[in-house]
Parts: sequence; structure tokens; C-alpha cells
Amino acid sequence: TPRLSEQVQRLRPSSTIAVTARALELQRAGVDVLSMAAGEPDFDTPPHVVAAAKAAIDAGRTRYTQVQGIPELREAIAAKLLRENGLTYTPDQVTVGNGGKQSLFNAFFALLDPGDEVLIPSPYWVSYPEMVRFAGGVPVAVPTRPEDAYRLDPDVLRAAVTPRTKMIVLNSPGNPTGAVFPEATLRAVADLAQERGLMIVTDEMYEHIIYDHAHVSIARFAPDHTLTVNGASKAYAMTGWRIGYAAGPLPVIRAMNAIQGQSTSNASSVSQWAAVAAIQDSRAFIEMARGKFQQRRDRIVAGLNALGFPTPTPDGAFYVLADTSRIHTDELEAARIMLDDARVAVVPGTDFLAPGRVRLSYATSLEQIEAVLERLAGL
Ligand code: PLP
Repeated sequence: TPRLSEQVQRLRPSSTIAVTARALELQRAGVDVLSMAAGEPDFDTPPHVVAAAKAAIDAGRTRYTQVQGIPELREAIAAKLLRENGLTYTPDQVTVGNGGKQSLFNAFFALLDPGDEVLIPSPYWVSYPEMVRFAGGVPVAVPTRPEDAYRLDPDVLRAAVTPRTKMIVLNSPGNPTGAVFPEATLRAVADLAQERGLMIVTDEMYEHIIYDHAHVSIARFAPDHTLTVNGASKAYAMTGWRIGYAAGPLPVIRAMNAIQGQSTSNASSVSQWAAVAAIQDSRAFIEMARGKFQQRRDRIVAGLNALGFPTPTPDGAFYVLADTSRIHTDELEAARIMLDDARVAVVPGTDFLAPGRVRLSYATSLEQIEAVLERLAGL
């Protein structure tokens, strides 16, 4: 058998995918499993976006594009960042990738040398530490607490800085916590980055899925030290189209373009044209989605707490972290019990560094949330 690289042997498959696979297996065997494991909105891509993609195909926009993305899309992104985030970037300071995931991947490879430490508030999205390690860096978890609704304490972050620290990863609103970091925290992190010469990579994928808060982009406070990553997946229900982007200092963007140019080249041309339509005009869709997500959040948080699964109220994204110690101290066992005994698929918090908790995604109908709560009541 071929010997795989040491690099790839260090890579861990996502636990999210493992649970989804097991739930699918049960479903295929005829068991009616209700999945709360998905990481994507349940809405269809808005019709005006689909129409733009069809028009692009009919117009023959089906060839290679610039590696960094078509100028029309980078202009639309720059205009969006100014309009919605108060950030000033030229289209050259924007690069489009195959999903936010590729933009993050390129960013870590563009910025990290072996041994460079990357501070990541935890619980965190599992791909950050994996990508950092893959790029030779050393992920360092900076814990946040459920009693603080998982908001980052800037003093805890500061205390984790060492001479090897190169980067801080922020994700607000966050997956899996739903935490939204207040402006004062962002200012403190920006100050720290400037003072210590650190790069901030801020993943703002969930910026529009936010309740009773206005999203604040940290790049406003430290533009030369920040790479802003975002994408079409969550905001416009476009997970399958694979469009993400990053904006930041020109040398970083150029390095990311060089990496992408020798790996995947451009993101799908058709998807790029669809994203132009999505980014220019989706306010109605965003408001509709936010309203629905908020109703679902209110219902699931109230329901889980009433059932003895303590769950902090998240301010954004579409996930909750529920304390499952009532049914088992080990969250892997708790997730197994929920799947086998209640036929509800959730993701154990293990890989997120959320011990004793499982993640439920509420990107599902209110009816499904009601049915899930009813099933969990039996445990
Ligand atoms: N960042 C976070 C926090 C996510 O949860 C996800 C998707 O689950 C992504 C980035 C990647 O999104 P995409 O590659 O679809 O743009």
C-alpha cells in the first residue's frame, strides 16, 4: 500500500462529517432521523441569484477567469465592504476563492511559517486548527466560557501571546457558539494586534445572521493587521456554489492569489456571476432569513433549557451548544444516545473543545424543532 505523507496523516477528518454520515446511514436503513447537524441554511438560493447564473451560462461565461475572480465580482465585494462594513478596499485587495474555506486555507499558507502560533478562541470551528497545522503552524486555543455566552475575554487572549504568536483568528458571530464579540472586545484585540505586530484573520461568514446586534468588522480598527474573510454560503444560502472571499493588505492578497493560481485557479465562473447578483441585492432575503432564524433560536433555546439541557442564548449564527451532562458526562456518548434513542442527530462538542456539550444547528423548520424537542423530552 502507498505510504501517505506525514502531513496528511496528521489531518483529522471532521467530526461533523462523521455524525452526518452515521445519520445518513440510519436514514438509508429506513430510520426516520431528524438531523440537527447541518452547517447550512435550509433555504433555497434566492431566485434572482439563480437567474443570474442561468444568464451567465447562456451568455457563454463558462471559461477560466482571473485567478482572483472577475473584476465585476471584486468590485461588488469592495462596494459591499464599504456599504455594509465601513471598510475601504480596492478591487485588487479582494480575492475570490472556492468557498470561504479555500480563502482561509490560502491565508494560513500565505502567512504562517513552521512553529508560528495562532490564537483561536474556543470552542472553535474545527477547520481552523486543522488548517493551521496543515500550514505548519501551531494552533493555541484561547478558552471562552458558557457563563459569558462564549464571549472572548481580551485579557485571556493577551495572556496567551508569546514571542512565537503570529496570528489571531476571530469568528463573530461564531460557529459553534453563536457568540458575538462586542465592539470594545474587537477594539482591544485590534490594539493588541497592532502593539505586538500580529495578523488578525476574521471570519465573518455569519455577519448577517445576527440578532439584536449590529455586526462590527474588526478591520475598521486595525486595517493593516486584518484579513477579512467572508462568503456567499451562509448569507445568501449558496453553500453549493462555492464562493468565498478575502480582503486585506495587498501583499497578503497577492500571496493568496499565487497559492490559488497553482492549486485550483478561479472559483466557478458561473458561481461568480451568481455571487455578483447576490452581493449587490439581497437585503430582502437576508431580512427574511434572519427573522426565521431568530424565531427558531428562541424556540430551541427555551425548549432545551426547559428539558434540562442548559443552553446559553447565542446572539448570532444558527447553532446552539447544549449541556448534555444530564444524560451522560461524555458528550460523545450523549450524542450517541440522542441518535440511537431519540433519533436526533447532533454533533458532539469534542472537536470544538466544548466538552460535555453537543451542537445543534437550527437551520431547520420550526416544525422540525418542535418534533426534536418532543423526542428529546423522552430521554
Ligand atoms: N467559516 C465558518 C465558521 C463556517 O462555519 C463555515 C462553514 O461551515 C465556513 C467558514 C466555510 O464556508 P464556505 O467554505 O462554504 O464558504
